[in-house]
Amino acid sequence: MSDNKETQAIRLQAQRSQNREHSVPLYLTSSFLFEDAEQARAVFADEEEGSIYSRYSNPNVDELLEKVCFLEKAEDGFAFSSGMAAVFASMAALLKSGDHVLSARAVFGSTHQLLTRVFSKWGITHSYADASAPETWESLIKPETKMILIETPSNPGLELIDLEFIGELKRKHDLIVVVDNCFATPILQTPIDYGTDLVVHSATKYMDGQGRVLGGIVVGRKDLIEEIRFFSRHTGPAMSPFNAWVISKSLETLSLRVEKHCENALKLAQTLENNEALEFVRYPFLPSFPQYELAKKQMKAGGGIVTFAVKGGYDAAKRFIDNLQMLSITSNLGDTRSIVTHPASTTHSKLTEEERQATGITPGLIRVSVGLENVADIIEDITQALAKV
Ligand SMILES: *Cc1c(COP(=O)(O)O)cnc(C)c1O
Repeated sequence: MSDNKETQAIRLQAQRSQNREHSVPLYLTSSFLFEDAEQARAVFADEEEGSIYSRYSNPNVDELLEKVCFLEKAEDGFAFSSGMAAVFASMAALLKSGDHVLSARAVFGSTHQLLTRVFSKWGITHSYADASAPETWESLIKPETKMILIETPSNPGLELIDLEFIGELKRKHDLIVVVDNCFATPILQTPIDYGTDLVVHSATKYMDGQGRVLGGIVVGRKDLIEEIRFFSRHTGPAMSPFNAWVISKSLETLSLRVEKHCENALKLAQTLENNEALEFVRYPFLPSFPQYELAKKQMKAGGGIVTFAVKGGYDAAKRFIDNLQMLSITSNLGDTRSIVTHPASTTHSKLTEEERQATGITPGLIRVSVGLENVADIIEDITQALAKV
């Protein structure tokens, strides 16, 4: 068996049927047959391998999980109907009333809502730590702290968190570390290398990569995944076989796509650095990026997201978006099509001005998910739109 991600994302396939199909078929079935009563008993008793019911497992979902476990160097995993279902189940299965979560301040909007409005109802508390001040993290750990939850790079500010440092904190205080690796993908970084226990993904983003289906995945330590699997089997957030089939097919091109997203994003960021209409341009692999050294240390390339601040703030940023001719105005990311988002008026509009400030979301901030179009066309559209602001 090959050790290479490119090969295994293509070659790890569900077992073929007697029809000898080359491409794995879609197993649209809610349940699975047994040959006799004894086989039914043995499969239910975990003495024999095999699918029972698609809320538990399904060949398409299993294939996808096998690939993601390989890519993330994880022991086991479970797949969900969306990224948020994966984040929710990972926490709900492992935390109990009285536990405390130390979270990076800059987490996905819905993750922030889970911490502040959902888990708080059940007596699970949290503190937010500042990615730019790692020296303050340890003082936020309490006796009841059970979990560290982070995203690196963060959305949309592209703040990085040193995974090695988080691994040290975890060992010292015996915590469960959960990393949302959605922005980097396992092509650019594998948090498990640094002692991370669980890696979660919104497979909706780069894993599908073509803006078609939602999906979520958590992979990591076998004992923790067992608890998450128990929780999920009985609460029902499983990924549909169709979505698993789509995403597993997409993984066949993940490394190629991510490489090209990064190449286009770097070229765009380099070009925009000299644009007079901008206050700043942020991209992890630009030498001007405040955490450039850390980016080089833990990421293979800078990722597909570029953020910049338009001079003139909120109104200028919206004018810039209205001047675009090709880029899509939508809130998704990781798509083949380049996408532009104005976080202050959309994805992060529910935050208070203070909360936005704390996560670096200034009124003029723009997030571009750089797609796979010819980069000259992406640059041309953004430059002409900026010239007219
Ligand atoms: C989109 C996203 C999620 C949520 O995933 P869904 O598939 O939309 O539920 C979680 N974390 C990050 C970093 C994301 O970008």
